[in-house]
Amino acid sequence: MTQSVREVIIAGNWKMYKTIDQALQFIDHIIPVAQTAKCKVFLAVPYTAIKACSDKAKGSSIVIGAQNMNDATEGAFTGEVAASMLKDAGASFVIVGHSERRRIFSENNSFINKKVKRALASGLKPLLCVGETFDEREQGKTEDVLKKQLQECLAGVSKNEASNCIIAYEPVWAIGTGLAATTTLAEEAHAFCRKELSTLFGEDVARNLPVLYGGSVNPENASGFLAEDDVDGLLVGSQSLVADSFAKIIQLVQNGS
Ligand code: PEP
Repeated sequence: MTQSVREVIIAGNWKMYKTIDQALQFIDHIIPVAQTAKCKVFLAVPYTAIKACSDKAKGSSIVIGAQNMNDATEGAFTGEVAASMLKDAGASFVIVGHSERRRIFSENNSFINKKVKRALASGLKPLLCVGETFDEREQGKTEDVLKKQLQECLAGVSKNEASNCIIAYEPVWAIGTGLAATTTLAEEAHAFCRKELSTLFGEDVARNLPVLYGGSVNPENASGFLAEDDVDGLLVGSQSLVADSFAKIIQLVQNGS
């Protein structure tokens, strides 16, 4: 069997936090940490800070991305931002399908699928979030939900394009609640996602696709997730806003956790 080439990714999702000045201060702090890290460092920043952050991060190993985009190339969509604009501002990746967008902005799998395809066509790496709600888990529907989300959000994506995606398993009940999944539960869900990705794109593609865990990750619990076979990194929300905490999480990878 060919060895996987998956590299650990620690990604931060800043949500609707940080002015440009605050963002730049944070990046100043993280550049030296990222430089010696044994992982890739991704930061999904607010639209308003993409240009400044990507300029600042140039030449460093920090990858700047966006948290959302519209599925159209351009048009009369007041307040929306196109993938080409994100790319132009310096973004390399974009989060799609985050549960906050699904829940608060009623985004469904078919809309998310359009965004995935538009992001890929525009040269942006989609970071696709999937995950079950508390009720879905209680009702034993987790695998059905994950399967449907992966199938529908990645419909029409070629094997080549799939190799340019990142998946994040984010159980909805663990996001922003302080109630992280257990490492065993995360590994089970990640292994299931990889099996589904293998059905969709073949074993070779699935083996090399990064699947990140997200949901109340902090410097104390991060190592446990990183130690699991199918967890290829972390998507960090609130703890990515605090430079010291985010640096600690990055350094856990550095220390071989
Ligand atoms: C997220 O928003 O993707 C997330 C994982 O948030 P938190 O780490 O705060 O749970």
